[in-house]
Amino acid sequence: MEKQKKSNELGDLKPGKKSLRWIYLFLLLSLGLILWNNRWSARETTWSDFNEKMLQQHDVAKIEIANNEAVLVYIKPDSLSKKQYKDVANGLLGSAHPGPHYHFRIGSVEVFTQQLDDAQAGFSPQEKVAVVYSKNDSWWMTILAWLLPLFLLALFWIFMAGRLANTAGGPGGNVFNFGKSKAVLFDKGNLSPVTFKEVAGYEEAKTEIMEIVEFLKKPETFTRLGAKVPKGILLVGPSGTGKTLMAKAIAGEAGVPFFSLSGSEFVEMFVGVGASRVRDLFDQAMQKTPCIIFIDEIDTIGRVRGKAASFQVNDERESTLNQLLTEMDGFAPNTGVIVMAATNRADILDPALLRPGRFDRHIYLELPNKKEREAIFGVHLRPLTLGKDIDVDYLAGQTPGFSGADIANVCNEAALIAARGKKDNIGMSDFYGAIDRVVGGLEKKTRVITPQEKKWISYHESGHAIVSWMLPHVDPLVKVSIIPRGKSLGSAWYLPAERQILTRSQLFEHLCVMLGGRAAEALVFHEVSSGALDDLEKATKQAYMMVSELGMSDKMANISFYDSTGARDTLLQKPYSEETAKLIDEAVRNLIREAFDKATGTLTAHQTELHQLADLLLRKETLGKEDLENILGERGK
Ligand code: ADP
Repeated sequence: MEKQKKSNELGDLKPGKKSLRWIYLFLLLSLGLILWNNRWSARETTWSDFNEKMLQQHDVAKIEIANNEAVLVYIKPDSLSKKQYKDVANGLLGSAHPGPHYHFRIGSVEVFTQQLDDAQAGFSPQEKVAVVYSKNDSWWMTILAWLLPLFLLALFWIFMAGRLANTAGGPGGNVFNFGKSKAVLFDKGNLSPVTFKEVAGYEEAKTEIMEIVEFLKKPETFTRLGAKVPKGILLVGPSGTGKTLMAKAIAGEAGVPFFSLSGSEFVEMFVGVGASRVRDLFDQAMQKTPCIIFIDEIDTIGRVRGKAASFQVNDERESTLNQLLTEMDGFAPNTGVIVMAATNRADILDPALLRPGRFDRHIYLELPNKKEREAIFGVHLRPLTLGKDIDVDYLAGQTPGFSGADIANVCNEAALIAARGKKDNIGMSDFYGAIDRVVGGLEKKTRVITPQEKKWISYHESGHAIVSWMLPHVDPLVKVSIIPRGKSLGSAWYLPAERQILTRSQLFEHLCVMLGGRAAEALVFHEVSSGALDDLEKATKQAYMMVSELGMSDKMANISFYDSTGARDTLLQKPYSEETAKLIDEAVRNLIREAFDKATGTLTAHQTELHQLADLLLRKETLGKEDLENILGERGK
């Protein structure tokens, strides 16, 4: 608590304001010096003027030869009242000017003294003017010359420190604060506004998490029986599944202090900062027990250590991770600190992080199923003004594979589309548009496509459509369109079934569908086009995955080079020999050829339908399930 306060106080002293005061003081001082040294007010004159108008009139009190190069003339106070001196008579604030009143430059001191002697030849000894020599007369100028660069340097430093503080120590931070953790603290008086009400679904995960929070609040109930409160909990799930949302809700519900930060906030361009931030974070947490630390995107610091180090500068990340591990080992169980972390790449996390005593509890947040999607729609539809025709059940059915974030996006898009149409409420048609938009990127009607290209695209899309319609293991097709969306010129929508495993036939037929577009082009135009780039890329990737990871080819059956740790990602070497590499390449080529042949075969068998479908697509641009059924007949299950 004390420490926290102290760092806040430090943070409050804005470096800019404090240093500004010094700058003003310095400027005032310099100005004062300049004014005080009224030599600057001495008028320039010449030898002859000096000689005739001052020296010969016996008005000169003293002559000072400064630095052997300038002569400073002091006029007698009595003579200052003469008219010719009225310009120099008054000093600061109207007082009598103490002099020097005039100055002029000389070439050499010898010549000048000789001239002076000659000029005073007729003077009596009392009348002769005293000559004094001075050196380094402007001592303050010298000081200024020293101080100015220093001052500029200081100014530059303060400026840089300010910038650094903004980037490293956070806004308003002090430059010395960049080793401090940037965790946001939710505590009494600053509670997170999110509660579990806003998180739809995930009932099991919620119960489990609340149980752990209960551990924190009343450890005796568990420790009485000898149980240990878990130290680390890992939330794992694809992005957009609400991990951050869940953490915020925990902060809102737990009733204990909650430190929240992102993994990337540990790592800065300065070496050693990450580790010191981890230390600081745990120091702060220890003073606020019981409490929860939440680290979002822990994979930024928690990647597998080791091999990649040889050609990647990741020492900083490693030392941060090591510090985190040390800190987690450092506190005894039941001290009342629980570390939670979220990631969508649990597979690339360093195994050391997942060991018992660290993040040993894993809570999986998968993509929501239909019921959960319905609940998520429920949450995001609540603030919207809806029409009467809204069917949440149907919407949830139309959005398989959508994450919570996608659904939130659909709801917002639907509201935007309705607003653009100046409607009073949001109807089902707005939601269809929104879903299309989220699936395929923005609809672009402005892209210029020539009629010939359009024909080509309709045959390409019809190819996909027919192959998918005719093959039994492919997801059912719901819509085909030749309206360009985002990068693609046409698109086909499938209704993916919810399943966890895919058989070889399913994968193979999927490959056939991907190649169906190009097969149609080749069949109809006896030529192929660049329009299939995206398909080919996906098909090749999938074929490689089938051969080298899923062990689905004859020659390499049941062998997988998949690396779940991700450690090999950065390595240049392959884990297999040249011969195996050749085998893999050959198997992939065969697989693609087979798939392409099958697609061509299917299309050849249904050429009439292909032409009909392409014609209709050309006319209507978008075909729904009924149009497809009219031409292709009911699809076999
Ligand atoms: P992650 O951290 O897993 O990438 P987020 O927590 O950032 O995902 O989720 C992004 C948004 O998605 C949330 O702000 C919320 O609007 C929405 N969302 C995700 N899951 C849910 C859910 N279960 N219930 C309600 N909204 C959700």
